[in-house]
Amino acid sequence: MTGRRTKIVATIGPASDPPEVLQALFEAGADVARLGLAHGPLDESLDRIKRVRAAAIGASRPVGILVDLPGPKVRTAPFRGDGVVLQAGAGVRLIEASEGDVSTAEVVAVQVAGALEALEPGDRVALGDGGVVLVVKEHRDDGVLATVLGGGVLRARQGVTMPEARVTQRSPTEDDLRMLERVLEAGVDAVAVSFVQTADDVATIKQAIGSGGPVVVAKIETGPAVDHLEDILHVADAVMVARGDLGVRLPLEDVPHIQKQIIRRGVTHGKPVITATQMLESMLTAPTPTRAEVSDVANAVFDGTSAVMLSGETAIGQHPVLAVEAMARITARAERDFDYEGWGTRLGQQQMAGLSTASSMVRTTSAITAAAWRASVDAELAAIIACTNTGTTARMISRFRPICPILAITPHWSTARQLTMAWGIQSVVGETHTTPDDTVWHAVNAAVRLGVVRPGDLVGVLVGSPVTTEPSTDTLRLVRVR
Ligand code: PEP
Repeated sequence: MTGRRTKIVATIGPASDPPEVLQALFEAGADVARLGLAHGPLDESLDRIKRVRAAAIGASRPVGILVDLPGPKVRTAPFRGDGVVLQAGAGVRLIEASEGDVSTAEVVAVQVAGALEALEPGDRVALGDGGVVLVVKEHRDDGVLATVLGGGVLRARQGVTMPEARVTQRSPTEDDLRMLERVLEAGVDAVAVSFVQTADDVATIKQAIGSGGPVVVAKIETGPAVDHLEDILHVADAVMVARGDLGVRLPLEDVPHIQKQIIRRGVTHGKPVITATQMLESMLTAPTPTRAEVSDVANAVFDGTSAVMLSGETAIGQHPVLAVEAMARITARAERDFDYEGWGTRLGQQQMAGLSTASSMVRTTSAITAAAWRASVDAELAAIIACTNTGTTARMISRFRPICPILAITPHWSTARQLTMAWGIQSVVGETHTTPDDTVWHAVNAAVRLGVVRPGDLVGVLVGSPVTTEPSTDTLRLVRVR
């Protein structure tokens, strides 16, 4: 076994902005830097992308940049200071916000024009992560009257969650597409799309990006997205279990079960799955996580997640580097008890998800990576090396969760950075070679140089034949390292 296999996504914000903190986050184990575009002006985020890219270049391994598009999220104007208490039973008035408005315990200003018109008496409206719930009473000329059903403290700008049927705006929004254009110019490795409901929503973003651009992460955070998970997995390159919004829109007690379902289905499709939100929430202020948080992260590893995500912990928390260090320790420990054999055997016995409609290229890659996993068990391979252009071969072998290390060798830096969110893959950039023999020879040498394998080890190498009209990975070579 090698180092940590579960990848860590760290959200970047004011707490992690200084270059020395960014560098410390990467050294502590952050594999992907996530930048949310929902907060602050776009130009600030574009500057942040540049700073993160500069810090990532200094890291000892590839680091990916994931940009998160806000989608049609309705937000309040800010609540002032240390927070405003909304008491259960109190009456509040929801109004459409004007420039410079703030929200108070009596009047909550909502920042999306027309959003309140869709509300009907009896509707429940959640503020923030669902800590405060209002029930709508009536529409009046001066706003929508509501009663606080569950009270709590609200700080800064808060998300406003309305019943799904009342959400008229689809994802991606016009604003998302405008932001995407600027983000593509800046150069990022992955784009997350919020509040998708169907595969078409994801396809819109993929079309806007075109071929060869960043990978698309579909955030699963609405009821319809859970219902359309299979279709979404056909189109998206990766998915996120966005537990924050998921827990507001669906019963909270369903979230752990939906998490398991999304992880299993995503990995079966060969798509990385990121488990997100409130993973080490108490580390916003505390230097160590709670027992429950440690269990949650470990259980996400046992569920088979490809990556775990830190949100406010690294963006606005008091201990961003300690949070990444804690995440690295918890995941590495949990991996020691992961059921590698059970996972691989389950997958090895079934056809890859979505294969019935897949191209011959995908079918070939599916078959050859299944063979590589089988070889890793039967021949006790010391490593599997995937020579890959797009990263697909590496992701396809990663879905089996082999116990031996996976090394991806690619001619493209963009592929190496995109693989940072995929489970268990260590990537290096290397030259392309003309024959499979040359490719295998150079791949094994690279693995020796990196200390992944040693003389005497048996290693499996996955390569493509350059002669085929439809390029795919069609060769598995077992090589004894000399
Ligand atoms: C979530 O809702 O869990 C999530 C990751 O999305 P965001 O942080 O954008 O609210």
